[in-house]
Amino acid sequence: MSETIFTKIINKEIPADILFEDERVLAFKDISPQAPIHFLVIPKKAIATTNDITAEDEALVGYMHRVAAQIAADLGAAEQGFRTVMNCNEHGGQTVYHIHLHVLAGKALGWPPYQERLKA
Ligand code: AMP
Repeated sequence: MSETIFTKIINKEIPADILFEDERVLAFKDISPQAPIHFLVIPKKAIATTNDITAEDEALVGYMHRVAAQIAADLGAAEQGFRTVMNCNEHGGQTVYHIHLHVLAGKALGWPPYQERLKA
């Protein structure tokens, strides 16, 4: 798998506004926020897409959700709520091929969460 910009963030080769880090995951603010609160939780292990998650990764992906909820709580968004999203491949709108959990909060979010995309 080729290296993504998120590997560079993990390796501190490019800066990010980091909210949490341990040996398994990193959480940082999205550079192009789509809600008043918008951060990403990524595994340090490079997994390209949801399709590439294996049985071995189950605890890691569950842990990503627990970290997301803890940060949302720290930011005061637990009670009113938040949304987690993981986009997969082109139709899912994935642009960075290192799995990441989007966490969006801070306002009442619309549903469904998508707009039709125009073909380029
Ligand atoms: P996705 O389209 O689901 O693959 O989401 C990729 C997300 O990464 C987008 O919301 C981008 O705004 C975000 N992103 C890309 N580069 C950076 C960066 N250097 N720092 C923080 N977020 C980034």
